[in-house]
Amino acid sequence: MLAASASLLNVNVVILDVGDSAPAKQIIAPRNQDLAHIDGSFADPAKIRELASKVDVLTVEIEHVDVNVLKEIESDSEANVVIHPSPSTVQVIQDKFVQKKHLRAEGCPVSEFIEIESTVGSIQATANRLGLPFMLKSRTLAYDGRGNFVVRSIDQADEALKALGNRPLYAEKWVPFSKEIAVMVVRTTSGEVVSYPAVETIHKDNICHLVFAPLRSRDPLVASRAQSVAESAVKTLRGAGVFGVEMFLMDDGSIYINEIAPRPHNSGHYTIEACETSQYENHLRAILSLPLGSTALKVPSAAMLNIIGASSSMDSINAFVSTALSIPGCSIHLYGKSECRKGRKMGHVTLTGDSDASVRSRLRPLLEALPSGTP
Ligand code: ATP
Ligand code: MG
Ligand code: MG
Repeated sequence: MLAASASLLNVNVVILDVGDSAPAKQIIAPRNQDLAHIDGSFADPAKIRELASKVDVLTVEIEHVDVNVLKEIESDSEANVVIHPSPSTVQVIQDKFVQKKHLRAEGCPVSEFIEIESTVGSIQATANRLGLPFMLKSRTLAYDGRGNFVVRSIDQADEALKALGNRPLYAEKWVPFSKEIAVMVVRTTSGEVVSYPAVETIHKDNICHLVFAPLRSRDPLVASRAQSVAESAVKTLRGAGVFGVEMFLMDDGSIYINEIAPRPHNSGHYTIEACETSQYENHLRAILSLPLGSTALKVPSAAMLNIIGASSSMDSINAFVSTALSIPGCSIHLYGKSECRKGRKMGHVTLTGDSDASVRSRLRPLLEALPSGTP
């Protein structure tokens, strides 16, 4: 989606990812040999250096990259490459425990969390301190809830350690939120921030399932408060680009930050059809020091539904897509991933409308057509 936006601005893009037909590489064909995409891992220092040698501006679409190499490239004046967001920001964010400590130190609202050792004893001590249930989280390499384990009883300590493997862990107190919300924030190279409207995000099995824009709430000030919490948090980070700020909204109207993604984010996919400028275009504008586009909604209501694989078969995805094709005004985005897997994001659809009712009535058949959970 970033590559698609770049092509409309005549911005050449070189992509580093594994395989010749990685999803982003299907979008932009190299203009010449110098701009050929790179086959390799975004965690491979040599490949990251190769990418840096080909570009003027380097950005990331995933935080699990080799950040030490990015730091070396950033400080190498001969490399002459600008990196956004700053590698130091990616470093803070890629360790969720360090990220939480950073936010707390900067005065951003976060709920209680503590350091934990990967032992049964430490998990049991955490249950005494935080109460049950609590959320055990992997500090690193987490996405789509793969790295989270809800500890409901102290008997689960062994199971939790097995599930999260040998990764470094920390624990969060359970947050009994009334809603999950998110705000996409754009930060310019000169440090100004602007935000998109607040949205409601609905997760299923720890994976973002649905997004409704804009956020509806009894208290009309909640949405602007969420924007200001998100903007303040992003102001504490260095470098330009789009940031996805995930938050918990409590019954009493208070807001906690769950986590920040230093990149375009699925809670901002709706911006492609529903806002004046998409999160992708604004990410590019921000990292290229171009004027930002308006973040305003251009429709009264929108919904985004992720298409998540139910098994290794594409059949249920194809069946869903044939329903989506029959829904008026349904925008389909399939990601061109070569294999389907249970729990894998294979694409998304967006609906926009003149009212929530118009969006919800067309959403219903899409929800019914979703790939079922049966393998
Ligand atoms: P992402 O794909 O967004 O990066 P992730 O793997 O980093 O996900 P989190 O965002 O930490 O995981 O958690 C996933 C979901 O689990 C949250 O959106 C929320 O629904 C739930 N969750 C996370 N932390 C807590 C908590 N402390 N209390 C209650 N629910 C939580
Ligand atoms: Mg995350
Ligand atoms: Mg998350």
